[in-house]
Amino acid sequence: MKSVEQHIADILGVVRPVAPIELDLQRAHGAVLAEDVYSAVSLPRFDNSAMDGYAVHAADVAAAREDAPVRLPVAADIAAGDASAHTVLSGHCARIMTGAPMPSGADAVVPVEWTDGGQAEVAIHRPAAAGDAVRPEGGDVLKGDLVLREGARIGAAEIGVLAAIGRRSAPVRPKPRVVVLATGEELVEPGDPLGPGQIWESNGHMLTAAAIDAGCAGYRHAFVGDEPGAVMAALEDVLVQADIVITTGGVSMGAYDVVKEELSRLDTVHFEKVAMEPGKPQGYGTIGEDATPIVTLPGNPVSAFVSFQILVRPALQRMRGLPPEPLPTVRARLTESVASAPGRRSYRRVVLDRVQGGAVATPVARQASHQLGALAEINALAVVPEELTELPAGTEAEVVLLPRP
Ligand code: AMP
Ligand code: MG
Repeated sequence: MKSVEQHIADILGVVRPVAPIELDLQRAHGAVLAEDVYSAVSLPRFDNSAMDGYAVHAADVAAAREDAPVRLPVAADIAAGDASAHTVLSGHCARIMTGAPMPSGADAVVPVEWTDGGQAEVAIHRPAAAGDAVRPEGGDVLKGDLVLREGARIGAAEIGVLAAIGRRSAPVRPKPRVVVLATGEELVEPGDPLGPGQIWESNGHMLTAAAIDAGCAGYRHAFVGDEPGAVMAALEDVLVQADIVITTGGVSMGAYDVVKEELSRLDTVHFEKVAMEPGKPQGYGTIGEDATPIVTLPGNPVSAFVSFQILVRPALQRMRGLPPEPLPTVRARLTESVASAPGRRSYRRVVLDRVQGGAVATPVARQASHQLGALAEINALAVVPEELTELPAGTEAEVVLLPRP
């Protein structure tokens, strides 16, 4: 059997980062910056007031005291956005608002709270030193400064920085388009009535959401049955809109495992047994003219879920333009033993609790690959290494932290 590492590496080998494009700020949200960004301007762009107050010559108010205010005539009123050139002569002041340009001559702002708030004349009760409550030009960012690095995930902070330096758009790798195709003759859309032998299609919904949680644009294609031709027809359909295709079902040893049957005919898709549990039957490769990557996951819901998190996520990271890192792990003490098939690396569903002095992992009771009832309760997967068939209660296990949206 093929190792988990080798399979992760093979999937990584068929994907590459999506091509960069220029996207408007809001559309760039969740994408990954494709170039370093330097500021074309200094921030602030001009000296301005940090407070609502009075722009003064600091020397004029040096003697101001609570009980002996300095009185100054108010020569101007300067609001944020005021475009006119104001000058404050010694012995005068200007009323000024937060963000308004400093008038020439003035070198400090006295907050309105230290004054009587006068409009023609103001009584100033405390001194201010030169520079007080003034935000100098370039005091935040200098023209030419590197403000964002290639590889940054565009979130609220990045969008704020880009907008502040006047960028309307950014060069990004957009979210990879992940198209999910579930297969299985027994499948029915959730909510629709079930006939005998039928089940509701859950993997397609789950994997689409998992792709979105992983920072991609997930699209769930209508599921297809097991009749020959259906899978290929659906795949042809999705190729135009997919940066990667993920299928589920139809890859094991059964008689109607059409994904495997049909895609095996192409010599670009490979079907293998990977030494993991759940998730042994796996396939990967490329399809279509553009060699679109495809990963074919097994149909059992927990196998599909675990396979996605362990095998597919690193590839999606690479497609986003990020390092193809696996999910983070911690060490945690198992409260109960977990079993594993010999020669396979098992991922056991656990609830991880951080407690004083470490972390504790409690396995859920039902661990079979069709038992997804507790899937939403868990937050981690405990790893039982290939060479072991059990990790007894009390041992420390490596535990994979599952992502939350
Ligand atoms: P398969 O990999 O097609 O042999 O399917 C393995 C098991 O997973 C079977 O019990 C299927 O009914 C079930 N299964 C396959 N696809 C899905 C799906 N999309 N949603 C829920 N269960 C599925
Ligand atoms: Mg099937």
